[in-house]
Amino acid sequence: MDLKKPRRIGIFGGAFDPPHLGHVALARAAVEQLKLDELRVFPTGQAWHKARELSPAAHRLAMAQLAFSDVPRACVDGRELQRAGPTYTVDTLRELHREFPGAQFLLVIGADQAESLHSWRESGEIARLATISIAARARPITAAVPVDASRLPPGPREPVELPPIPVSSTEIRRLAGAAEDITRLVPAPVARYIDQHHLYPTN
Ligand code: ATP
Repeated sequence: MDLKKPRRIGIFGGAFDPPHLGHVALARAAVEQLKLDELRVFPTGQAWHKARELSPAAHRLAMAQLAFSDVPRACVDGRELQRAGPTYTVDTLRELHREFPGAQFLLVIGADQAESLHSWRESGEIARLATISIAARARPITAAVPVDASRLPPGPREPVELPPIPVSSTEIRRLAGAAEDITRLVPAPVARYIDQHHLYPTN
């Protein structure tokens, strides 16, 4: 009898413009708590639900590689950056199911993303193809609030416990643009990369 457990593969997508310590903490917590064999980090193409023009794909890919290089079992997968047009998570999940038959997929998302998950393309299919793993996310002002479960597509869930880390890429871009210090908010190699490439120029 084959008692081999299915491979557990975490999927963690984001614009990562830039990646910050909240992302890295979430990735580490997901690998440990969900007992992942692998965490695949996907810098997204131009996400359909984000109106802002993102930094060039090559920079976001390079920063993600720097940010997640110390996270055990994490690897950066750049496939969504090569897709023409908008990024849809359901397409990536379908591809991964074909590539890793028999694996179990866990979609790791922060609470803010979880709240809009019902509006993602084919959200019911996403919840069928992956276990949804939600981590609390601190809002800039209010304390972290639990996600309203009635708004989530039905399907298996495994939460990730994460102390609220009140940092966002928006805030980092704002600080960098005002020539203020960002070194406490991003991994050191990412701070150097932003500086060397003048990624978020001062206004
Ligand atoms: P922006 O401020 O540009 O919207 P962001 O900081 O939300 O960016 P994303 O790249 O959009 O970063 O986030 C990728 C994923 O990481 C999402 O699932 C998001 O919920 C989660 N995430 C981002 N920041 C945190 C944080 N501080 N704590 C927990 N989860 C987070």
